[in-house]
Amino acid sequence: MSANDQTQHQLDAVIIGAGFSGLYQMLCLRDRLGLSVLGLDMADGVGGTWYWNRYPGARCDSESHSYSYYFSDELLKKWTWSERYPGQAEILEYLNFVADHFDLKRSFRFKTKLLSAHYDEQANLWELCTDDGERYRTRFLISAVGNLSSANIPAIPGLDRFKGPWYHTGQWPHEGVDFTGLSVGVVGTGSTGIQAIPVIAAQAKSLTVFQRTANYSIPAHNGPLDDAFKAYCKDHPDEIRTILHATPNGHPFYISETSALSLSEQERHAVYEKAWEKGGLRFRASFKDLLSSEEANKTAAEFIKQKIRSMVKDPRKAQVLSDIDHPFAAKRPPIDTHYFETYNLAHVDLIDIRENPIDSMTEEGIRTTNGLFKLDAIVFATGFDAMTRPILNLNLRGRNGVALSDAWEAGPINYMGLQVPGFPNFFMVTGPGSPSVLTNMPVAIEQHVEWISDCIAHMRAEGLHRVEPQPQASAQWMQEVNQAAAATLLPKAKHSWYLGANIPGKPRVFMPYAGGMAHYRKRCETITANGYEGFLMA
Ligand code: NAP
Repeated sequence: MSANDQTQHQLDAVIIGAGFSGLYQMLCLRDRLGLSVLGLDMADGVGGTWYWNRYPGARCDSESHSYSYYFSDELLKKWTWSERYPGQAEILEYLNFVADHFDLKRSFRFKTKLLSAHYDEQANLWELCTDDGERYRTRFLISAVGNLSSANIPAIPGLDRFKGPWYHTGQWPHEGVDFTGLSVGVVGTGSTGIQAIPVIAAQAKSLTVFQRTANYSIPAHNGPLDDAFKAYCKDHPDEIRTILHATPNGHPFYISETSALSLSEQERHAVYEKAWEKGGLRFRASFKDLLSSEEANKTAAEFIKQKIRSMVKDPRKAQVLSDIDHPFAAKRPPIDTHYFETYNLAHVDLIDIRENPIDSMTEEGIRTTNGLFKLDAIVFATGFDAMTRPILNLNLRGRNGVALSDAWEAGPINYMGLQVPGFPNFFMVTGPGSPSVLTNMPVAIEQHVEWISDCIAHMRAEGLHRVEPQPQASAQWMQEVNQAAAATLLPKAKHSWYLGANIPGKPRVFMPYAGGMAHYRKRCETITANGYEGFLMA
């Protein structure tokens, strides 16, 4: 059924989002289960994250051969990635290829925003209202809105007075931005800033980077894939899939079983040196205890800080860049292409805004407590109100008219990151409480989409119409999520978006499940085998 033919507006399922999650969810529900399904997306095309994040240097930090759907060997055979790490344009092309291959676009209504969704208890249906004035009633409502889709634009006093253009990296103009001849400021040095800074520096007349928290970064060593590797990927999907499913983060490599502390300093250094040469997130897999032992972590942290100091020639810049206040990988570790080397360019400056905070913006630029920095254009690489905001923006009201924003006032209460008590038949793909952002996302997405689809298929087969978590099961799961985080060094990064700490007023709760993707997958399988344990079905 075409989105435009949607005359009755009564559906089996509505999916919000047309990224990796929404596309596969559409395929599963529409084609495999034969449901009437409508997809909605604010963008005018598919792609999700990769539709919006078109900033200079935007690239994935998962290796391309693993950043793919693995549910279809046919797809894997038909698509060939060109580089070790796929760039934004190539990923967007890939998602369009998948959508066209399965004829998915016709089931989405693009440029359409869901304004609200209310659960009608008597009818056991969700009532949806969109910004084009349409209303829909659906049995199942599925959030496929992504975890990093709500831009965090800092509320700096005077932002509206700045006379030049400013941009958030997650809302980048489709026509691109030409920084030639301009004095540009970049605020933020997370994964995004670290990717964008070298590319903007190559174009701008001058670049001033405003850094609040110094960050680790590992060289990506990106480059074209050779024919032998491309052939290996096509010939060995089972082998790669097995590794993706067996590892805690869903990446195509195993984590070492050796402790960093079991080797001599020289031996350990050699391991790090080799991993640095190989590049990418594999560095984090050098030893088994980098995220569980502070002492082990310090060895990696010190190695990287030493590298920064050796790469950055100006001692002041080197000190500001290497003065890192959290354990390595306690925040999502960026990978880069010539990031630290960029600070050796004469026209690139670095301002420590932890030392001298930004206090306002004027017509001419950014004012810190140390003075005014005159700028022609500003780029905010300031991240996202992650994980919860995209879901809260759906304006859900569940049983008894309770708003999700109230149910989540103290943090995102959920069961398995899949459902929320009091919000029947509402599912989240990679919601808070699931491994999600701690993994190579397509792996987590496929697992969730398949679990949700199996659950709906089971309900239909059994004549069941409603599913929601038992409050007690949800409370127990929230404890497990906390315990899993506490067993790692992840909560030690006090300013991390994993904790909601980047957003003023947001509850400080460690949101993703840190117990590992493979373990989580088994938990979900056990829940299913035990008759959807912890869920109430009616
Ligand atoms: P981020 O990690 O949250 O980094 C935001 C940066 O902006 C931080 O340096 C932060 O400083 C700074 N910042 C935020 N608010 C500020 C303010 N009011 N004033 C000054 N500085 C401020 O966001 P991101 O870099 O967009 O990355 C988010 C996530 O997206 C990543 O962790 C990753 O999961 C994903 N991502 C992945 C890739 C990839 O695959 N290669 C690329 C980009 C993004 P503080 O640290 O002090 O808060």
